[in-house]
Parts: sequence; structure tokens; C-alpha cells
Amino acid sequence: MNKVLIIGAGFSGSTCARILAEANWQVEIIDKLNHVGGNAFDFLEDDILCHKYGPHIFHTNSKQVFDFLSNYTNWFKYEHEVLANLNGTFVPVPFNLTSLEKVYEKEKAEQIKNLLIENYGYGNKVSILELLQTTNKNLTEVAQFVKDNIFSFYTKKQWGREIEELDKNILSRVPIYISTEQRYFTDTFQFQPEDGYTKMFENMLNHKNIKVSLNTNANLILKFEDNKFLLNGQVIEYPIICTAPIDEIFNHKFGNLPYRTLRFDFEKHNIDSYQLGAVVNYTISEQYTRISEFKKFTTKNQVKDKTIIIKEYPFEYEPNKNQIPYYPIVNQQSLKMYENYVDMLKNTPNFYPLGRLGKYKYINMDI
Ligand code: UDP
Repeated sequence: MNKVLIIGAGFSGSTCARILAEANWQVEIIDKLNHVGGNAFDFLEDDILCHKYGPHIFHTNSKQVFDFLSNYTNWFKYEHEVLANLNGTFVPVPFNLTSLEKVYEKEKAEQIKNLLIENYGYGNKVSILELLQTTNKNLTEVAQFVKDNIFSFYTKKQWGREIEELDKNILSRVPIYISTEQRYFTDTFQFQPEDGYTKMFENMLNHKNIKVSLNTNANLILKFEDNKFLLNGQVIEYPIICTAPIDEIFNHKFGNLPYRTLRFDFEKHNIDSYQLGAVVNYTISEQYTRISEFKKFTTKNQVKDKTIIIKEYPFEYEPNKNQIPYYPIVNQQSLKMYENYVDMLKNTPNFYPLGRLGKYKYINMDI
């Protein structure tokens, strides 16, 4: 039987574990945490399903991904919507034709709406960066408005950097909709796992060929010497799939890859509902980026007179300080550093970096 070691029991690691186990590989999957599911881990608190590491919302266009996960969970339909709180005016995000009506007078909103439709076509999406390039004077004003009210301050809080310093793909994740589309995502499959993400991962890893070892830190048991990995002193010839931060695994040999981390503040309130929707973004005020209210992500266990919310405070990640690297800060410089790690691995053919931290990419759950 072929053997494989997988580091990290999050989305990438657990998926590989199951696929390889089905193909009759003997899988050992380790995770330094005391639970599976990585950052998608959720738990019940006062009967409310809470996401320990911030809100996770599943969406994909891939039927293959959806079918695969459906083996391990039932789903409930959940189409995510987000509001931006502009000093008390609640505006749908992504900014769309309805958002226009909330922030401009009727006549002006109508005029801008027609201009947007003429220039970009009804039903299309346009990135704020593209909109800012417009030479149409009337559109420049709305581009600047959206930049100032939706993107600039939030992005500065989230990334600690100006929009112009960031990879274009970050802002195009949240385009402007030239329609009245209210949903945050437009993917074909939008569901949440009925009993939560943790349960889904436990089911996925429940296979006779998979051994899960929690509370097991790869950095403490793996050594890298002469292009080979040693596990508890023994050279490993079999494949290692590693979803841990690649720079950490190699002792930051080529430097620290930059990441943003988050502090989460949970609050319990003895009220039915805290805010208008599941997520409210604070795009022009506050030090936190957004507030998520967990009971609004689920249709199950609807407790009364009680709710739990979470506020997210982003800051720069520092290694070896017990922080979690959530977001890779992808730019030319960090990609160059990442390439050094990948180049070094050319001589270690049994090592496969994977996932957000192994590939150093801001990827979603499904890709
Ligand atoms: N963004 C923003 N204002 C918003 C929502 C998003 O400026 O109201 C920008 C911000 O830079 C953010 C990026 O768009 O980091 C991607 O947003 P997304 O919601 O995809 O971030 P995630 O949920 O992955 O944190």
C-alpha cells in the first residue's frame, strides 16, 4: 500500500486525504490544532453555530467540487448578502444599481444608472480599478465615490496598504454590479453545510485508510536536511503534501512571506437580532472591517433572545507569535521570495506544497 503524509487538515489537506484514501493510499494526516477543518472550524455556543476563525461561506461554480463535498454533508440554501454601513446608511455590497439609489437622489441615480448601463452593459460586472480608468466625466465622479466609500478605508484596514499597492485580483473579487443583483456571490452552487464545516470534515476524514493526528506540529517533528525530509529522525521517501506556510516549514530561510492576520472579538447579546444582515462592512468608519452575526448564516437552531457576533480587526502577521496567517499579501516582492522556496524544492520531488499557505495564493475554499 502506498503511503502519504499530509500536513494540515483544512480544505486542501482533508480533500487530498479522502481522495487518496479512496484510491487505496495509506494516509496519515497531521494538524497542529486540536480539531480538523482548519480555519473553517465551527462549533456550537449557546446553540448558535459559530465560526471560530471568521465567517466562511461556501460558493462554487464547480459541480465536481459540490458533488464531492455532498458526500460528506447535507446542505441548506444560503445566498450571502452584505451591507456597507456608511454612517448609518446601509448600502448593498457589491455596489450595484440599488446601492446607487441609496446614496444619490432619484434623478441623479437614474442618470448614473443609464450611463453605467450604456458603458458597461446591463448584467455585467466591472472592477473599481476599471471604473476608475474611465474618461467619461460623469462616471469619474461615481468611480471616485465608490472608491472613497466602499474600497479605500476598508482596504487600508484589511491590508495595511493603499489600493494601488495591491494585486489587482484582490479588488476584482468584489466588482460593481451593473444590475440589481444583491447577492455577494453569483456562483451556481451557494449552500452552507447543514451541520457545519467541522462535521463535514470529520465525515470526510472518517475512512479506514486515514489516520488523523491532532495536536501534532509538523515543525517539531519534521527536519529538512540535504534536500530530504526526516520524520522523527527517519528519512521520508514517500510523498508529503504540505498545506502549512511554506516559509515556516523551511525556517524562513529566504525570509518571512508577508501575511495579514486577524483578531476576532466575539460578543454575546441578549437580543434576537443585532444587525440588518449576516455581514455588515464598515467601509468608512471603525477600526474593525466587518461584523458578522452567526445565526444569520444558518437556518438551524434558531435560538430566541440571544445572538453572537464577531468583529474582525486585521493586522500584520508576525511569525512565531502564535498568530494565524490568513491572507497572503501577494505582490512582486513576495512572489519573488515564494519562488525561492519553490526553486529549492526542485531537488525534493516528494514534497508538494498545497492550499492558500503552500501555494501562497489568496484562493477560495473551492480552488
Ligand atoms: N473590499 C472593500 N470593501 C468592501 C468589501 C471588500 O474594500 O466592502 C475589498 C477589500 O480590499 C477586501 C477585498 O475587497 O480585502 C476582497 O473582499 P472579500 O470580501 O473577498 O474578502 P474576504 O471575505 O476574503 O476577507
